[in-house]
Amino acid sequence: MTVKEIPLERTFIAIKPDGVQRGLVGEIIRRFETKGFTLVGLKLLIPSQELAEKHYAVHKERPFFYSLVSFITSGPIVAMVWEGDGVVESARKIIGATNPLNAEPGTIRGDFGINIGRNIIHGSDALETAQNEISLWFSDAELANWEPTIKPWLVE
Ligand code: UDP
Repeated sequence: MTVKEIPLERTFIAIKPDGVQRGLVGEIIRRFETKGFTLVGLKLLIPSQELAEKHYAVHKERPFFYSLVSFITSGPIVAMVWEGDGVVESARKIIGATNPLNAEPGTIRGDFGINIGRNIIHGSDALETAQNEISLWFSDAELANWEPTIKPWLVE
């Protein structure tokens, strides 16, 4: 399989308000960049109530839903789309377990968090979720279709 034939996989990543407030934006982007994934979408925004509720709709019956939505809308977040072979599952590993106390050292949540309600970052949990979340947060015009010149040094 040549470089061009490798299917493109994308995932949605958001640095939550605690990650932004704590100055972790650069550190988090660095981890995905140095792994070899490609950034194809990036914006800073304060999510509306409606957007946050749609994003976390799967949790709407859960007891933490209200506090989660109010936290996510409480300040700027950095929304991103990353591309690369196996990026959905790999990003989940880079991020670590939902509860930072259970997250392995070396993961983002394991290195920077201690509380489930302040776990710094979101990453799509499956390919289908990723596609839905990307279209919820980004328009097509906000995504750059590009191929890094170093790609042959990342994948054979
Ligand atoms: N969450 C929470 N309390 C809980 C479980 C989850 O505040 O008991 C929050 C937490 O911020 C988590 C988000 O809800 O990241 C979504 O939960 P999910 O189980 O989808 O975890 P994730 O996919 O983010 O690891």
